[in-house]
Amino acid sequence: MSVDRYEAVIGLEVHVHLASRSKIFSSSSTAFGKEPNSCTDPVCLGLPGALPVLNRAVVDAAVRLGLAVGSHIRPRCRFARKHYFYPDLPKGFQISQYEEPLCEGGAVEFRVAGEARRVRLTRIHLEDDAGKNIHDDSGVSFVDFNRAGVPLVEIVSEPDIRSAEEAAEYMRALRTLVRTLGISDGNMEEGSLRCDANVSLRLHGTEKLGTKAEMKNINSFKHVREAVEHEIRRQAAVLDRGEAVVQETRLWDPERGLSQSMRSKEHAHDYRYFPEPDLPPLAVDQDWIERAQRSLPELPENRYRRYTDALGLSAQDAGVLCSEREIADYFDVASKACAAPAKKLANWIINEVLARIDDPRRLAAVDLPVPPVALAELVDLVEKGTLSGKLGKDIFGRMWQEKRRAGEIVASESVAVVSDVGLIEEICKKIVAAYPDEVVRYRGGQSKLLGFFVGKVMKEMGGKANPKTANEILLRLLG
Ligand code: ADP
Ligand code: MG
Repeated sequence: MSVDRYEAVIGLEVHVHLASRSKIFSSSSTAFGKEPNSCTDPVCLGLPGALPVLNRAVVDAAVRLGLAVGSHIRPRCRFARKHYFYPDLPKGFQISQYEEPLCEGGAVEFRVAGEARRVRLTRIHLEDDAGKNIHDDSGVSFVDFNRAGVPLVEIVSEPDIRSAEEAAEYMRALRTLVRTLGISDGNMEEGSLRCDANVSLRLHGTEKLGTKAEMKNINSFKHVREAVEHEIRRQAAVLDRGEAVVQETRLWDPERGLSQSMRSKEHAHDYRYFPEPDLPPLAVDQDWIERAQRSLPELPENRYRRYTDALGLSAQDAGVLCSEREIADYFDVASKACAAPAKKLANWIINEVLARIDDPRRLAAVDLPVPPVALAELVDLVEKGTLSGKLGKDIFGRMWQEKRRAGEIVASESVAVVSDVGLIEEICKKIVAAYPDEVVRYRGGQSKLLGFFVGKVMKEMGGKANPKTANEILLRLLG
């Protein structure tokens, strides 16, 4: 099979739960994992006569997202009914947006293995989520309406994605972005971030888009990668056989690692969209947009550029620091308090701090054992030579365990490196005198023996000699 003959063309429709306390059109709670059907109300249950009222906080979150990706925010938009039948949809329609979405255009910028990518957006619109069907082992099915009415944005991309990996990284970038904006927890295990992946193939060098298949409801980065990868292979095999790809909706089965046809493609007219008569048009004025614009934090991609351009960090390090807002915030606070080069500080955060926590978002916790200023203090002690690198790491471990500051541990236990030049010089002289043969060999050209002398001095001083000072003195005595 010749996958290489084809170029993959991928567009993603990503659904994100917006973090509001109450639902998009009613007052019941959006909390996850509650007793089934305990977070419901007449509106989200679709009871006759119940009227939706739009949640302003939800619109604000979507406006901020739109501004962050450079969308045009429509000053006036509308909601529409999208009809379909399913047991988890008691109204018989979803309230979505159709011809007049809240946000149009824009783009998401991110990287794949350090290389910049840009995926244009078609639109971002608001809608309500459906409930959830639960299928029991005994063959009985239940419906839990707690999720019904949870606010969603759907982020529709242009077909700008070209590989399975890029699709996964695009999704990752969106998760980082919504978390940075504080508009969603982006929790994929809880279904707060999921996507439909549209995939088609065309021969390299051709323009015209091929027929696409849509893979529904993918809920992890790994599954996006696998599902798209698998779909590319499946379509390549179909085309190689001289057959045509059927436009359809498929369901990815992560357990078996394959997809199955679910239904033939539905078309917009199947949904009988019409303007939602129970909601007035939504007006977002310039004032609102300006306020939302001012509320935006530094965005991940800008941070990444600041770290690589202004601070000279490697793509790899900047990528790790910018992968969660809390890591970058931690770095920024430490960096302000620290005289050491950014690269040194980044190493400490990546190798020591992140190695000790499983969820980087914990870095924002108030009871963090080593807050950023405490790390800055330690890193400076190492950079100044008060502590050797090895001692510094030991002390970091103890700071984490005992929640103590570096300065305090150093002061109370005299663990610091000895920088007393007189004392070090005395020991150096003693060592030089004790190894006359090595001195002759060193002077005869075996300059590597310097390490031997440094080692002896270190041993004599219990590892606490300032290595830089010892080096300088030995060079002088031997030279
Ligand atoms: P539909 O009418 O099937 O809903 P849309 O034009 O609304 O299709 O696009 C839905 C998603 O599919 C978008 O993310 C879009 O970028 C993507 N898409 C559209 N056409 C193709 C194609 N030929 N190949 C891959 N993705 C596509
Ligand atoms: Mg569509």
